[in-house]
Amino acid sequence: MAKIRIYQLAKELGMHNDELLKILDEMGVAYKSHASTLEDSTAETVKELIGEQKVAAEAQKVAAARQALPLRPPVVVIMGHVDHGKTSLLDYLRKSRIAEKEAGGITQHVGAFEVKTAPRSGAGSGTVVFIDTPGHEAFTSIRQRGAKVADIAVIVVAASEGVMPQTKEAIAHAQAAGAKIIFAANKIDLPNADMNKVYQDLMQLGIVSVAYGGDAEVLPISAKTGQGIPELLETILLTAELEELRADPNAEAQGVIIEARVDKQAGVLASLLVQQGTLKVGDFVVAGEHWGKLKAMSDSEGARRSEAGPGSAVQVLGFSDLPIAGDTFTWVPDQVAAKEITEERIAERKGQDTSPSDGGRARNLVDLMRGMQEAEQKEINLILRTDTQGSLEAIQQILARESTEEVRINLLLAAVGAPSESDVLLASTANGAILSFSVTPSGSVKKLAEQKGVPLQSFRVIYELIDEIRKMVKGQREPVFKEEILGQAEVRAVFKLSRGVIAGCMVTSGKITRSSDMRVLRKGKEIWHGKIEGLKRVKDDVREVAQGFECGILLEGFTEFQEGDILEASQQVEVATD
Ligand code: GDP
Repeated sequence: MAKIRIYQLAKELGMHNDELLKILDEMGVAYKSHASTLEDSTAETVKELIGEQKVAAEAQKVAAARQALPLRPPVVVIMGHVDHGKTSLLDYLRKSRIAEKEAGGITQHVGAFEVKTAPRSGAGSGTVVFIDTPGHEAFTSIRQRGAKVADIAVIVVAASEGVMPQTKEAIAHAQAAGAKIIFAANKIDLPNADMNKVYQDLMQLGIVSVAYGGDAEVLPISAKTGQGIPELLETILLTAELEELRADPNAEAQGVIIEARVDKQAGVLASLLVQQGTLKVGDFVVAGEHWGKLKAMSDSEGARRSEAGPGSAVQVLGFSDLPIAGDTFTWVPDQVAAKEITEERIAERKGQDTSPSDGGRARNLVDLMRGMQEAEQKEINLILRTDTQGSLEAIQQILARESTEEVRINLLLAAVGAPSESDVLLASTANGAILSFSVTPSGSVKKLAEQKGVPLQSFRVIYELIDEIRKMVKGQREPVFKEEILGQAEVRAVFKLSRGVIAGCMVTSGKITRSSDMRVLRKGKEIWHGKIEGLKRVKDDVREVAQGFECGILLEGFTEFQEGDILEASQQVEVATD
């Protein structure tokens, strides 16, 4: 969990910064400003001081308020195979919006634009925000930095052609991002448009359209004539309603940088998508290592805005240097906070850069699996690339068999052809690996995989590929632990101090370590089981004490020591299951 800043804690506790600073002064806590971070333990102590009841009451209010929050417009990204009509659809939507506006005409590219739909039967009109860049590359590079931008992905499939390789990629990217998918079968105006082919192609991918009794929305449209586009917008709004997308316009403003560039005259121009709260001219924001004071804001119609609420995309002036697309931005109270936070981040990165890090090092699959194990992920995300449809299907079938109840193999994408850079980005955002069979990734793809730490392995023999998968699945199994006794200590004296009760002990066998699990045994019976809070040799905190030495032991939540008690240390060790 991120450390809390003083002003954030003050806000959480419903008090003024100055009141909290006074309390911190009394506690003797050092800080630079109200933007400084607090140690978790300090923050906890303050909360206790202020009274847990107050915090609980506050939390209840917040929970109730969250349910009453207003709905926000859905954010939609348009994806699909090249030439299937993504740009045309965006153009049509952009134009239809301007046509509605009498004064319209001048537009500016701010990375996203709003479309207001006509009033619907039984419902009011709604607003939909479209990300103004087609294709999953832009979308994925934003997601790379951890930001979730789109709620809904509209995947365009030309009804004259049906599902193509990049349609599948788009589906994989949208699924990995957790976006709801709506299909738009485009070019319905062409004589060779065939809706049944689109439905059937999707069926091949396990996607059953509403027309075939499933729940996937597949809407016939024409980006050329506009046919079906009102229905598409309506389906987007209905999907959004089911998703209950809510945002608090009064929260601290927060969102994503969608684009940034330098204009020779104006300076740094950044496009921001507001996801929470309301951004106002004059506000300070921090994005990654950059901050800005918002001098001016304008929307996609080129109109000046003094504020922008949830779902608005605005271009802002005021960043001192270029923020990075995909970074999240957050409101901060003032310049002091903005500077301190960005300086801290820069220092942190520099610190990391100089220490030996494994960033950029090519990882193998086992490394990746180890990481997943730590994250308790019991799913293996894979991208599979092969030379032919036949080998693809054969390997897919084998993979399905290797998937176990404990460890699921999730195919993000299975396709014919060499792994692409976009595959690497997908694998990287989904923490997955790429396996290729009888196709060789290009040098640039290998390099990108190395940079992103995405395992990328090529095989020429199916058996070797399967072997690798088996190893991965095994690496994912729930490890089996057994307890190992480390040592014992006997309580020789009991000291009552202000911070707790310390047992003065002699280690009689083995050793006691700071991370041990501890048991208190009295006359051979276990009377307590838990963790160590402190381990001391004379006055120093130590990590372990060996047989024959004296030490002081403080336990987490046990104080009733008696002379002669035995404190037994143990640890859980993993048992090899092979
Ligand atoms: P993108 O690569 O997915 O962005 O595709 P474009 O929007 O550039 O469209 C590719 C081609 O298909 C262009 O020549 C468009 O004019 C054409 N096109 C797009 N949508 C339609 C449509 O609904 N009907 C027809 N007849 N042509 C379309």
